[in-house]
Amino acid sequence: MPASDRPILILGGTAEASKLATRLMESGYRIISSLAGRTKDPARPEGEVRIGGFGGVAGLCDYIAGQHVALLIDATHPFATQISDNAIAAAAATDLPFVRLERPAWLQRPGDAWTTAMTLEEAVAAIPTRARVLLALGRQHIAPFARRGDVHFVVRMIDPPEVPLGLIDYELELSKPGSLEEETAILKAKRLSHIVCRNSGGTASYAKIRAARELGLPVIMIERPHRPGANTVPDIDGVIEFVEANLSF
Ligand code: NAP
Repeated sequence: MPASDRPILILGGTAEASKLATRLMESGYRIISSLAGRTKDPARPEGEVRIGGFGGVAGLCDYIAGQHVALLIDATHPFATQISDNAIAAAAATDLPFVRLERPAWLQRPGDAWTTAMTLEEAVAAIPTRARVLLALGRQHIAPFARRGDVHFVVRMIDPPEVPLGLIDYELELSKPGSLEEETAILKAKRLSHIVCRNSGGTASYAKIRAARELGLPVIMIERPHRPGANTVPDIDGVIEFVEANLSF
């Protein structure tokens, strides 16, 4: 395969990954974006898209070899730790240039009232008795909150859950993160007293943090897991510089 036909593989599932795919295609690179297939109707990045797990590090290595991938970019969510570990291992095993795009974490600003939790269990314990909580977490992270039968949860999800959530007192809010006005309206309409969320960083889901600040609501913020050292840049421009420096076609 001519070097210029070899694709860049972007491990995606984030807004930044989609923007990155568009930017690199505009510069003439062939891009394959990979999505895990967690949501039923995902926003598809421009260009070639593949969906579903690879089958661990070995499967990712096979895919890289089979597609003659020229460079690997991990642009997955900061809390998607397994695929990021797999990406580091597969890039090393296949000797591919590798870069990770990791948007900076949100920082507390004046007016924010955050309680920091390092784990889901710490977040569960930090919720005051009889609180009304917006739970803005992926569906696979809800189970530990089941032991808080004293708390009313509003669980925000994109797709309805396929299995019961196990929570005692809850309602579903089937929507994506909204604008400041929308987030403010939900917090008020549901008479919420707290938000539990993860420190995702970026702009797509920041409006709820602003809304909480303006309404004076406390946020229980789950901080990011420790990440292994990898070649990491904080923004799309940094990735593009890396690509240009490492691919000469
Ligand atoms: P994870 O726990 O790190 O990954 C679990 C497994 O899912 C991986 O071992 C891999 O399966 C598969 N996988 C994950 N991301 C993939 C991708 N982009 N392409 C192909 N396979 C992928 O991941 P997660 O936390 O479940 O997140 C899944 C996806 O949702 C990621 O793409 C992430 O960017 C996106 N996302 C996650 C969050 C979050 O809060 N975690 C939020 C927004 C978006 P195999 O081992 O079989 O390859």
